[in-house]
Amino acid sequence: MSQTYSGNRGLQLEEPLIFDIDLPGVCGVDLDAVELDTTAYLTRKTRSSIGLPGISEPRVVRHYTRLSQKNYSIDAGLYPLGSCTMKHNPRLNEKVARYLSDLHPLQPLSTVQGAYCIIHELASWLMTLTGMSAVAMSPAAGAHGELCGIMAIRKALDSQGDRRTVILVPESAHGTNPATAAACGFDVKTIPANDSGRVDFDALIAAIDNDVAGIMLTNPNTCGLFESDIVKIAKAIHDVDGYFYCDGANFNAIVGKVRPADLGIDCMHINLHKTFSTPHGGGGPGSGPVVLSDRLAPYAPIPSVIKQGDEYRIVEDDETGLSLGRIKGFHGQMGMFVRALAFILSHGKDGLRQMSEDAVLNANYILVRLQDVFSPAFSGTCMHEALFNDTFLEGTGVSTLDFAKAMIDEGYHPMTMYFPLVVHGAMLIEPTESETKRSLDDFCDMMLSLVDRAKAGDVESFKASPQLTPRRRLDETLAARQPKLRAGLTNPIL
Ligand SMILES: *Cc1c(COP(=O)(O)O)cnc(C)c1O
Repeated sequence: MSQTYSGNRGLQLEEPLIFDIDLPGVCGVDLDAVELDTTAYLTRKTRSSIGLPGISEPRVVRHYTRLSQKNYSIDAGLYPLGSCTMKHNPRLNEKVARYLSDLHPLQPLSTVQGAYCIIHELASWLMTLTGMSAVAMSPAAGAHGELCGIMAIRKALDSQGDRRTVILVPESAHGTNPATAAACGFDVKTIPANDSGRVDFDALIAAIDNDVAGIMLTNPNTCGLFESDIVKIAKAIHDVDGYFYCDGANFNAIVGKVRPADLGIDCMHINLHKTFSTPHGGGGPGSGPVVLSDRLAPYAPIPSVIKQGDEYRIVEDDETGLSLGRIKGFHGQMGMFVRALAFILSHGKDGLRQMSEDAVLNANYILVRLQDVFSPAFSGTCMHEALFNDTFLEGTGVSTLDFAKAMIDEGYHPMTMYFPLVVHGAMLIEPTESETKRSLDDFCDMMLSLVDRAKAGDVESFKASPQLTPRRRLDETLAARQPKLRAGLTNPIL
């Protein structure tokens, strides 16, 4: 049966756009009509419709429930999206986050001492884990943390009257790195990778001169490899008085194993929503605190929370005149702070170290189970994610994209594809520490079965996949640029 009358496929329910189930005049709430004396305070006497759809209360509930069920999540299955650290989000985090959900950032300080204590406590854990002397808590995500860190570097240079213009960025970097550097007015100079997937040290040295303000380096890098020259890189940058920004999105691989400060890093953002849990697929909130070395600490944004005696206080004024200013309303993502601190406290020092060890072990388990059939991008072990190129698909007619779409038919979220750009047809798999050996084996068995199918010449079905989803292959770029919020409508409604 290719098509049902209802459009539903078993319990997979078709759901139209909300404006297409509009029944004009229907209202979900049953309130008495309001009699307004419009002449008294409204200048516009006639109120026109603002175009909201008319829907009954149960239909609204069904609409959003059905939409939520279309969202793949870590609670539904393994989520091997590399560079994203999609790990289990303990229910405990959610429970404690809700205790604080009705606070307001403008409440008198005396009534929210506990909330400030949480921010302060989390800040001190982040400084301890990284070995850094300061932390800016307010950035709202990783990319925002990058902005904060590079602005701090800009401010530090400006305050010394130094007009350096160049930031070095390795070619394997996440796109937000060069974008951030450019947004802060720097010129981006790209550093190539060597055959082992790491920064080409000689090329880096050749690129360094007195116009270099700093480097943005991810460690472990986006190929899932520890940058083995990192200490030498830090020294080379410091020798010209530049600054070392580390993209800390992959911190999950090294928590409790090495402190970024000991590697010579001057500032690093921490994606709380990756390393310290929190569901961030599907657009959940992020949080990207930035740890800073002594050299950059004076330029940190405001506000910051300090402890004086038994009392927590908030520093909102730029008392030294050096701060880069305010980069976010209020103090940051409170709910995320609570979740991250709950995660940290429930793991403890030893548990956090084990978290990283298990994440690395799980990725290497996948690497070893797949390496004879798939083609690893680089030789040797990996850190927290395993990276393959598409050589193993050569001659099958199946591309990385086709392979990923076939994974969807198998009920798996695909891995990260075509990133990092330095690897042809990249497949980047990050299982995180959450997965058991059983679920890793199920995943690997499924992946190997797909390769069998590709090699058996089943190219047509790969090209047609996903075949079992409500929608097949979409033009994702067009959908993002011209969203159709009403069927048959050609222009987006904003
Ligand atoms: C996720 C990620 C970022 C950006 O973090 P957001 O919180 O999504 O803004 C930057 N760099 C790397 C390597 C990442 O994986």
